Amino acid sequence: MRSSAAKVARSNGPALRVIRGRGAMNLPVGWKEHPEYGMCRTLTGHGWALPKGHAFKVDGSEVIATLVCRNCGGGKRMHMNRRTGAILKTPRQYPPDYLLKGIGRSPNKGKLRSAYLDLVLGT
Ligand SMILES: [Zn+2]
Repeated sequence: MRSSAAKVARSNGPALRVIRGRGAMNLPVGWKEHPEYGMCRTLTGHGWALPKGHAFKVDGSEVIATLVCRNCGGGKRMHMNRRTGAILKTPRQYPPDYLLKGIGRSPNKGKLRSAYLDLVLGT
C-alpha cells in the first residue's frame, strides 16, 4: 500500500518545524541576557533578603516586609498579621522579561530546567 503522504503537495509557505523534547520551550530573551532568571526559576529558587536599611511598614494590625531577590532582582511584599504571624498576601514583582509568557503558569519543571541548561550551555 502506498503512503498518502507522498500525495501531499508541498507549499512555498513558511517552513514549519516540529520541536520535541529538549529545547522545546521558547524561553524569554531576558533569560539569555540574565541567566540568573533561569537559575532562580529552575535551580536555586529566589534568594529573598531584606535590603539594608529596610524598615517594616506597619499598617494597623498588618506588617509589610519588602524583600528583594539577591540573584534576579525580583521583589515581593509580605503582608502579615502582626498578632498571628499569618501571611495575608505576597504580591510579587519581577524584572522585565523574567516571566514565562505563553508557556503557562506551572510548566513542567524538568522540561523548563532542561531548556534553561540548553540556553546556558548551548545546544
Ligand atoms: Zn530571584
